[in-house]
Amino acid sequence: ESVFQSTPRAPPDVIFNLTASYKADTFKDKINLGVGAYRDNDGKPFVLPVVKKADAILHQDPALDHEYLPIGGIPTFTAASARLILGADSSAIKEKRVVGAQTISGTGANHLGALFLSRFYHPGAKILLSNPTWANHKAIFNNVGIETIDYPYWDAKKRGLDLEGMLNVIKSAPEKSIVLLHACAHNPTGVDPTQEQWKQIAEVIKQKNHFTFFDCAYQGFASGNLDKDAWAVRYFESQGLEFFVCQSYAKNFGLYGERAGCLTAVTSTPDAANRVFSQFEKLQRSEISNPPAYGARVVNLVLNDPTLSKQWQDDLTEMSGRIIAMRKALYSALKKLGTPGTWEHIVTQIGMFSFTGLTKEQVSVLKSKYHVYLTDNGRISMAGLNTSNVEYFAKAVDDVVR
Ligand code: PLP
Repeated sequence: ESVFQSTPRAPPDVIFNLTASYKADTFKDKINLGVGAYRDNDGKPFVLPVVKKADAILHQDPALDHEYLPIGGIPTFTAASARLILGADSSAIKEKRVVGAQTISGTGANHLGALFLSRFYHPGAKILLSNPTWANHKAIFNNVGIETIDYPYWDAKKRGLDLEGMLNVIKSAPEKSIVLLHACAHNPTGVDPTQEQWKQIAEVIKQKNHFTFFDCAYQGFASGNLDKDAWAVRYFESQGLEFFVCQSYAKNFGLYGERAGCLTAVTSTPDAANRVFSQFEKLQRSEISNPPAYGARVVNLVLNDPTLSKQWQDDLTEMSGRIIAMRKALYSALKKLGTPGTWEHIVTQIGMFSFTGLTKEQVSVLKSKYHVYLTDNGRISMAGLNTSNVEYFAKAVDDVVR
């Protein structure tokens, strides 16, 4: 008899479980639209050309060793990450009000930010999360004892943003709550506020003295343009707001398994910034001692080299361009079939995902009859589509909605 005999069995992770079912399926035309990982037009994982170049440079570097990184990570990496999201001419950076810690990709950035807030923000403050949101958000905040409140986000009828519902809940939350916002390419809906809507959101947050927690997992992936995808974050800075921003290099560098990320804090004084950083280091020390080196070395090299940065931008244009092309291809295939319902949202949504509006029952038929794997909420990863399977997928959708 084990002391863990009565440990409750945890349910399997939905996304990773979906991939396992897909892998076990022997049907030749099967499609995996579950996991949010970019695939090329042959359905294969994609190593960015700029990452291959950086790999080659790193492998030839005689000075490269396997020593520990500093607790807060590679200083030039965290500085470049701040410039990437805030812009090279950011006043906060110039005024030394910005600090950053290298983290275990975006998940680690969310965790470190959450842990810090659980210790050093107003006791009992809750975090407001969009409904729906990335499945991990609730768990990450609950793990450190921060309770969550949902704010409306997806208007199923409109197949778009429920701005009014969102603003109402942010307005009615207790002062100094924490508001989590997806900086761009909202996961899972693919629906982002417009610039005018962002201004309204910032205004309400300012009025209520809320603290903003940006999660930015898709910079450069949404529009293909790094600056455009950082617009909301930069606008918040211009409004004199303090905030955290979690950056992931999983998607935009294709460094999924290397776990390169950053937690950047924008504060109103250099003194506060230094205090915050000292606690990031202290928390990080007891949690992971110091962050993993390789992925951050790749990113550090690219972000601090103009030629490599230019190549990265080209790689981003290629990935985001292929995704946008697949949106158009799926939309026109559904139009051609005369599939019942409206499908414009497929082309207006941005980033890795599309929230199709397919029901749980329809998703289940897609799986059992067509070997197409997607989450029950009808979210599809656009990157799983390519010129060889998009027609097949459109026909399958056409069948299940009729
Ligand atoms: N935040 C959001 C909204 C995401 O969609 C993801 C990945 O899917 C992440 C954070 C973190 O991913 P990672 O830890 O792989 O960087």
